[in-house]
This record gives sequence, C-alpha cells and structure tokens, in this order.
Amino acid sequence: MSTGYLFDERFLGHDTGEKLIPLPLGGELEPVEHSSAARITRRSHALIAGSGLLEHLTPLEARFATIDDLALYHTQQHIEHVRAVCAAGGEAGDEMGETTPVVAASWDAALLAAGSAMAAADAIIEGRVDNAYVLLRPPGHHATAAASMGFCLFNNVVIAARHVRRAHHVERIMIVDWDVHHGNGTESAFYGDADTLFVSLHQEDWYPLGRGKVTDVGQGTAAGRTVNIPLPPGTGDIGYLEAFERVIGPIGRQFAPQIIFISAGQDPSMMDPLGRMMVTMEGFRRLAAFMVDLAASCCDGALVALQEGGYSAAYVPFCTLAAIEGLAGRRSAVRDPYEGSSELDRSRREYRRQQSLAIDEVIAVQKAYWNL
Ligand code: ZN
Repeated sequence: MSTGYLFDERFLGHDTGEKLIPLPLGGELEPVEHSSAARITRRSHALIAGSGLLEHLTPLEARFATIDDLALYHTQQHIEHVRAVCAAGGEAGDEMGETTPVVAASWDAALLAAGSAMAAADAIIEGRVDNAYVLLRPPGHHATAAASMGFCLFNNVVIAARHVRRAHHVERIMIVDWDVHHGNGTESAFYGDADTLFVSLHQEDWYPLGRGKVTDVGQGTAAGRTVNIPLPPGTGDIGYLEAFERVIGPIGRQFAPQIIFISAGQDPSMMDPLGRMMVTMEGFRRLAAFMVDLAASCCDGALVALQEGGYSAAYVPFCTLAAIEGLAGRRSAVRDPYEGSSELDRSRREYRRQQSLAIDEVIAVQKAYWNL
C-alpha cells in the first residue's frame, strides 16, 4: 500500500497574524497568535518529517487551482473579493478582515490549497498512490459559494470533489468530515446532490450555531445523502469509533462510493481550545484506519484526506501524524506527548450513555434511507 503526502512551504505564507486587545487603561495586552496560526501547520510538517514516516510516504507535488477550478463552487464575486482583499494586504470590512484574516501571500496559499486537494485526488485516481494526506492551509469546509467563513477562503474538498467528477467521470463521492465544527460550506454544496454522501461528525450546538442538526438530511432525491452526527461535548475515542462502526461503515458500504474524501480537522482532540471533545492521538490513528478499511471494501482504497481545523499547537501535530500513520498502516517511533498523564488516561476511557444515545438518534433518523 502506498500513501501520498503533500505539503508545500508556500501554504505557510497564509499568515493570520496576532490578536491585539486594547486595555481600558491604555496600551495593549501582550498578543497571542490567531487560532489558525501557520505555526501549527509548520510544527505538523516538522514532526512528520522528523518522525521517520516520511521515507515511507510518496511525495506529491502541489499545484495552483485556476479561477475556473474555484468556480466549480464559488461565485465570481467571491473569488474576486478574496483576490482583492489579499492584494490590499488584508484590509476588509467583513468577516474576511476580522475572524478570517489574510495577507497578500494568502491568495497564492489558497489557490495552492485548492489545487493540491485536486492534485492528490488525481494521483489516487491515476493509480500513483493508494491514498493521500494533504497538509494544506488555509482550510476550506466553512467556505460557502459566496463567502469566506471560519478561517476558510475557498472550499478545498468541494472543489476537489467536483473536479474528480468533471475530470475523471467519477459519479459517487463520499465525504467524511471529522472536524469538531460542522462542515456547513460542504453540506450546502451537496445538499441536493444524490450522488454525493456527506457525513459530518461535530460537537452539538457549536460553530456554526444552528447548523448540522441530526434532522438535516439533504433535500429532494438527495434525502439521506447528508448524515449529520452531532455528538455531546466530551466525546472521546470510544464514542467516535462507535459512530464510525454503527453509522459511517454501514451507510458507506450501502452507498458504495468510488472515492472517499476526509475533511480531517484535528480539533476534536482532548487539547483543543476551540472544541470540547476528548479524542487522542491513538483515536485519530484508529479513525483513519477505519476509513482505510471502508475505502478498501468499496473503492479499491481510494481515500484522500485534506487538512481542515485543529488549534492546539501542542497536540495537533501528533494527532495529524497519527492520522497519516492510520492511512499508511505504519507506526512511527513517535509516542503521545501526554503518555503517562491522567488526562490522556481519562480521555482514553471516556464513554457515556449520552454519546451512545446521540448515535441512536442519528440511526433513528437515517433508518428512513439506509438499512441500519
Ligand atoms: Zn474546526
């Protein structure tokens, strides 16, 4: 089995800066980095490179998306707005200037992120690798057709999915989004598309508020092609794996996709400042391995994982390495940095009835469309 790995230094040009908080008595509080800091991506690549795993991975080359590629999902107006705001060095009066800051180099990084998602999918379909991980930034799953949102400029997974359909005549596509936040931009793209199965696991009643409800199942002939799995805060490895085993496996095998994408946000980790979940490094390894088995059983292993969120600079690099280990079916010598801590031990044991009940609820709703 061969696993592709795609990283490019130019992704790091997307610098989200520091947050300045003015003090009432004058001056500013010592700044901290923006949540979606380039440092997290840089540390992730450094850990992967230094782990020894890299020599067992096939390097894939980044490429720029064209404006036509972006237009597979985004409006010309949105594309032009992102270009203009980046060119102006990040000055914008909307969310792009505030929660989703950019610099001039963000434009190249964003084109490279979307293009690299497409390139990795091409490499799999053309048989150069079995599966792949793309350590890209900026992420994509919150971006809608007409707007940037939640640190995302362009929706990389939507563009890559529509690209494989256009370029390779792939019909049935499955997307599994394990980022702790609901993948609203991706869901919106495919809500009426019966050939695309979108599954989102996320923390219930979190960001974006009001999205990702268990009863949001897709519309028209696509009813049942959106599977929302809202989980209670505190869900750990055991609860996540239960959702994969009871919902994602059975529905995935019945849908029988020709390629599977993972929106891989490592923010359900036990250390994340923007999530309240308890998944560990071992948990991410097992989730990725589960997806490898699912892909093997329905689409010759065709599986591409694209980086989404993940905001613990301390822990995300380890969780990302673990996800790639799961894809590659190979362990590095790197161990969980919290090994021996009571928090890690507790997170590994975490399991509550409410987590199981949340999954029961998904099954009760999706039973109308799938044999569960
Ligand atoms: Zn997220």
